[in-house]
Amino acid sequence: MSLKDDFPILSREVNGHPLVYLDNAATTQKPQIVIDAMTQYYSNSNANVHRAVHTLAGEATEGYEDCRRWIKNWFNAQRAVLTSGTTEAINLVAHGWGRANLQSGDVIVLTEMEHHSDIVPWQILAEERGIEIRYVPVLDDFTLDMEAYSESLHKAKLVCVVHTSNVLGVRNSVDEMITLAHQAGAKILIDAAQAVPHERIDFEHLNADFMAFSAHKMCGPTGIGALLVKNDAFEQMQPFMGGGDMIETVSTSGSTYQTNEHKFEAGTPRIAEAIGWSAAFEWMSKIDLPAHHERLLEIAKWTAEQLREIGCTVYGRHQSGDAAVVSFLHPTIHSEDFARFLDAKGFAVRTGHHCAQPLLNRLGITGTIRASFYLYNSQQEAEDLIKAVRYIVERFA
Ligand code: PMP
Repeated sequence: MSLKDDFPILSREVNGHPLVYLDNAATTQKPQIVIDAMTQYYSNSNANVHRAVHTLAGEATEGYEDCRRWIKNWFNAQRAVLTSGTTEAINLVAHGWGRANLQSGDVIVLTEMEHHSDIVPWQILAEERGIEIRYVPVLDDFTLDMEAYSESLHKAKLVCVVHTSNVLGVRNSVDEMITLAHQAGAKILIDAAQAVPHERIDFEHLNADFMAFSAHKMCGPTGIGALLVKNDAFEQMQPFMGGGDMIETVSTSGSTYQTNEHKFEAGTPRIAEAIGWSAAFEWMSKIDLPAHHERLLEIAKWTAEQLREIGCTVYGRHQSGDAAVVSFLHPTIHSEDFARFLDAKGFAVRTGHHCAQPLLNRLGITGTIRASFYLYNSQQEAEDLIKAVRYIVERFA
């Protein structure tokens, strides 16, 4: 049995060819254990959480809270708010912490490498509050300009940085950035959407104030993610959404709120998704993540070298710690055509701006073709990809 056999979708064919799924930076596939856990919940335990004494409600509540326990244990975190994903987690910081703690004249530091979900919420808040946003430039070697970062911290209240780029696979120097942010008196949010699939981060040790990520990029279901928050930042947050479950009491003259994470989880939560995510953690706990990370990075490095040999431009550096993401362009074949040709041969890759338009503007391009590898991908699949790329280039360039 190979690890790939745990993923039913990976045995299907696409356009008469075995599927080679290389769109993992967009979303990963789900092992059978995740699918079964969600089906089992809907077949046997479906009920709303927290609000009844009956057995099914107890099982649903236990399943939902079990996911929080998995997250806290996996990341060594004291506070884990369940959200719909990275995007909602960042918006929760913007609305829940930003509105309560930032005012006109304050500074937020972002980078040119951010995903749109770590730019737009801050732009909305900045416009509303008169906040200044500074962007740390990306250098020609695809790293952040750390000198400019240090300078940008003057009077900064908050830094938001992507841990690992979804376009380049570059892992930023987050440890140094966290230390510098704190020395400058700023809080720091880490967008770990592309990091958590590849490495097991210790949130206490990392020492960031906020960390956002999504389940679906680490073998879990779509529609659920989390925000980890340090205790002092948690105490500074105000509710973003009001509704059921987040309250202690409600009267016509006002309401009081829960004091734990439920304060930020108004309404019926994602119960089946939480149960599916727990199953994903269970599956991942049996995987040697560091060994796979090394293996996949070698595959990405090899793929990048081959693509350069074929005449493509590769955006990224594939150094130790980086994710196995290979973004490239061919000088004459349009990226959309390229991806369609690859799809006709069973390869799923992504094209476009990958929700990182400021980064692509900086690189002077409007999109890339992106192959992103994950736990179930093999060197053989990379070799098959390169064979297909050569075939396409020979016929259409
Ligand atoms: N940040 C990064 C770096 C990402 O790659 C993504 C997903 N492409 C997001 C944020 C947003 O994640 P989600 O759509 O799951 O909220």
